[in-house]
Amino acid sequence: MGRFCAKCGRPYSEGVVFVGNLCIRCYLEENRVLDVPSEVEVQLCKNCFSYRIKGRWLKPLTYGSPEEIVKEALAKVIEDKVRIREVHGSSGKIKVTYNVEMPLEIHSTQFPITIVAKVEAGREVYEQRYPVVAKVTFTLCPNCLMRVSKTYKAIVQVRSARDRIDRVDRRKINRILREIDPYSIIDVEEVREGLNIKVSDATTARILASKIRNEMGATVSESFEHVRRNREGKRTSKLVIVVRLPKFRENDLVMFRNDMFRIVRISGFRVVLRNERNNAKTTVSAEALWDGRISDIPETTVYKKYLVIGRDDRVVYVVDSSENYEVKEIPLGYVSENVKPGDELKVAIINGKPYVLGKA
Ligand SMILES: [Zn+2]
Ligand SMILES: [Zn+2]
Repeated sequence: MGRFCAKCGRPYSEGVVFVGNLCIRCYLEENRVLDVPSEVEVQLCKNCFSYRIKGRWLKPLTYGSPEEIVKEALAKVIEDKVRIREVHGSSGKIKVTYNVEMPLEIHSTQFPITIVAKVEAGREVYEQRYPVVAKVTFTLCPNCLMRVSKTYKAIVQVRSARDRIDRVDRRKINRILREIDPYSIIDVEEVREGLNIKVSDATTARILASKIRNEMGATVSESFEHVRRNREGKRTSKLVIVVRLPKFRENDLVMFRNDMFRIVRISGFRVVLRNERNNAKTTVSAEALWDGRISDIPETTVYKKYLVIGRDDRVVYVVDSSENYEVKEIPLGYVSENVKPGDELKVAIINGKPYVLGKA
């Protein structure tokens, strides 16, 4: 290392950073600190404004104008393309950072931007400016392409152990669908057997199926359907997931262990049941919805109205006005606390046991 800068003759000192035999100012006149392409391209989906970075399509973070999304995408592309070169100086740290100067307004698909490198060397700060041409290409991302052409990679077929998917099921499924990335749902088709939900990718289809299973106690089975493509004659396969909803759902009255219960909640692999006579809660595995442990209220059930004629600290006294007005006693724990004389109770009689379903 010489005692003077080889270019400008500045003397070597502690305060001036040298790179080789050049002072930092002269070094920066001769050398670039960034590797920057002369042109950067942004691929933007004209339908959903996703943009492509390193082969992947990303959703924009900003919900602004297309212009703002272009700027966001451009910043990501530049981050991917620009490299900072390492510069080793004589003393002190050489710190290189950069920012991007973009036009305030973008009026065309091709416009100039400037990448400005800031070089901090000891006490001195320098700038290097790199003009770059930014190009924006509008295209369709794979998901939007599938939506437009109605092609899909997976299908979730929702079926029910009852005869059909009704409005209650549909409302719940719609709510679950809202938790799924809308751009992955290609189509929701109502068919006689239920719902066919076409999904752009297998992962999203599996997430959807498991959410329905978790919230509705459904069973899930997977298979592949082989499809021959016309154009190239290439074989492709589609994932087919059949999601079968159980016969029973939340709020239904059911029989379980010879008692009448109401299904309070289906969640995960569990079903929470509440005994209709004493309000005691029980949790069982969701399999019980399928293996017969949870079953229909028997057809022999008789529904009656009982009139409350009195109560003490142990029981309420009721009469069945449709019969012989014989006074019956129902333990207090089996009726709600606010029951008073004059109330009518709706009662189900199953195998001779009365279940108070509430006020009539
Ligand atoms: Zn110099
Ligand atoms: Zn798109």
